[in-house]
Amino acid sequence: MEINRRQFFGIAGTMAGGALACKPKKTQAARTLKAPPDPYGCLMDITACVGCRKCEEACNRVNNLPPPQVSFDDPRPLERKRRPVVTAYTVVNRYHTGKRDQRNQLIPTFVKVQCMHCQDPGCVSACIVGALTKKDNGAVHYDASKCIGCRYCMVACPFQIPAYDYHDPLTPKVHKSTFCYHLIIKEGGKPACAVICPVEAITFGKRRQLLGLARQKIKNDPGRYLDRIYGEHEVGGTSWLYISGEPFEKLGFLDLPTRPIPHLTETIQHGMFRYMWAPLSLFAVLGGFMWTFNRKQITGDSEPERKEGSI
Ligand code: SF4
Ligand code: SF4
Repeated sequence: MEINRRQFFGIAGTMAGGALACKPKKTQAARTLKAPPDPYGCLMDITACVGCRKCEEACNRVNNLPPPQVSFDDPRPLERKRRPVVTAYTVVNRYHTGKRDQRNQLIPTFVKVQCMHCQDPGCVSACIVGALTKKDNGAVHYDASKCIGCRYCMVACPFQIPAYDYHDPLTPKVHKSTFCYHLIIKEGGKPACAVICPVEAITFGKRRQLLGLARQKIKNDPGRYLDRIYGEHEVGGTSWLYISGEPFEKLGFLDLPTRPIPHLTETIQHGMFRYMWAPLSLFAVLGGFMWTFNRKQITGDSEPERKEGSI
């Protein structure tokens, strides 16, 4: 039996509901969004991106990742849909949605994929040792020294972003975009991808201001943009925001609920611990989630290296 992502989160929601139903009434108060008040973000204008992969190159360099098998100047990687992996924290994918130019040639559309740095991240909530934290500046920060390698963050991420380094079992390490945390905490610093982009497809700034900028762009040029900002509301909002001239569902973006994922993971966890369920049960349930992912039973993803992707 195959299930899609929406069904998956529906099942998780049912489990959360079951746990919630067992809780005393006084603990059932609505969960408030856990988001920093004025975080940074990045606004990606998909209509501007030319697919040059300079952002991939800059990310590789700033994170001291191993060199790729084919040069960043080589467009061949665009021939298949890719996901961020241990050796590449961001990738650019090419889509053909049927749009054509005056000579009837298909016009490609490019989408950069990386950790969305969610406002209220599922990965942070799922991490039982606090190795992942949401910082005030917006970055979702990973501390490898705390990580026990349980990989619940991989299961809890609605965008299927964290990658796990299986080569060294003694020092488990999860890999994902850092939002150039080390750069943006210094005054004036920006994520390397935003600095390098030759066509300024990526704008870095306060998330609140980026939302205003996105609305202004859409209002000023309704023929160019759809009236939607992806990431404004999805799973409680994300620090990466996207505007597009084509429907997001044609560009690999997932149709996700507005409710933050931690609402599900925390309810399950808290329900279990409240009733003294052995922590082993938690491992079993979340491990089951992970097994489901690893069995590739979630449809809508189809990538060779990892399950492919959608943002
Ligand atoms: S996209 Fe996934 S890994 Fe990134 S912050 Fe959101 S839940 Fe965490
Ligand atoms: S550097 Fe800019 S134009 Fe080039 S692929 Fe990345 S986002 Fe697109």
